[in-house]
Amino acid sequence: MVKKPQLMCKDCEYWYGADDNDYGPCSIKHARGDKKFITHGFHECDEFEYKISNA
Ligand code: SF4
Repeated sequence: MVKKPQLMCKDCEYWYGADDNDYGPCSIKHARGDKKFITHGFHECDEFEYKISNA
């Protein structure tokens, strides 16, 4: 089975990390009240399936 390209936080519209420090808050996790809402820019999304249209 081929692994689908997965959205990473750094490319996500719900992520508010700065480019230069790699970690930032996921607004979906934050809005839900998760204790761990800070994610790494290269964290693969665990919130929803993301289909990269040109993959
Ligand atoms: S965990 Fe998913 S929804 Fe949250 S910022 Fe990362 S890619 Fe976006």
